[in-house]
Amino acid sequence: THFGFRDVPLARKQGLVDDVFHKVADRYDLMNDLMSAGMHRLWKDALISMLRPPHHHAFHHLDVAGGTGDIAFRVLQAGGPRTAVTILDINGDMLRVGRERAGDKYGERLRFVQGNAETLPLPSSTYDAYTIAFGIRNVPDIPAALREAYRVLRRGGRFLCLEFSRVDVPLLDAFYDAYSFNVIPGLGRLVTGDGEPYRYLVESIRKFPTPDAFTDMITEAGFARASYRPLSGGIVAIHSGWKV
Ligand code: SAM
Repeated sequence: THFGFRDVPLARKQGLVDDVFHKVADRYDLMNDLMSAGMHRLWKDALISMLRPPHHHAFHHLDVAGGTGDIAFRVLQAGGPRTAVTILDINGDMLRVGRERAGDKYGERLRFVQGNAETLPLPSSTYDAYTIAFGIRNVPDIPAALREAYRVLRRGGRFLCLEFSRVDVPLLDAFYDAYSFNVIPGLGRLVTGDGEPYRYLVESIRKFPTPDAFTDMITEAGFARASYRPLSGGIVAIHSGWKV
């Protein structure tokens, strides 16, 4: 199969993204560990320490593009008995793997919803926090997803986004380029039998707005005090905003 993601019209992009995650759902968690050499775990932990879910009062959390549950499980473990998490993802296969991983460990505190980040099937002004980790890059209409994040958050609620960013450390950038273009698709082919989805992954990282441009987009969606923090020399960044 050949995806040919270059210059795909936005309207068709979602279908291609869905194909990628249908294909890799069952090996998704293994691939994350292999490709990031386990670093995605540290980045996800950093996101949770910025979020700091409360131990004693009620906390309604929404994790969009939540896939197989990595962020949601961490929020549930860091929070208290009144922390509840909704995982939303467009892809039923990713959600299935997430349900299997969760088992009945979290009961009523964890809910799965299939839906699109651009048009959330969820009520307005409801959630205390919204996270999206390695997801917004895949969404065709990013401003729409940001507006929806703003809509579903209650006043005082926080938006946090973990995403690949721009490496701006000399030598690390050259190493990172070589790694992304040569190692990642090869690893992808080895483990899932197809390198093309992973070429898409690398390409989508390059196309994503710079951290400053993305900060401006967050502000345009209505958020206050939009800012970001680069991690690991800018391989990833955490963007933050508040609904006030
Ligand atoms: N957040 C998880 C993590 O960090 O491991 C999963 C990230 S995975 C790279 C990207 C996820 O975004 C996939 O599960 C995919 O189905 C989902 N996705 C892609 N487009 C979406 C959309 N328009 N709305 C909601 N989820 C979407």
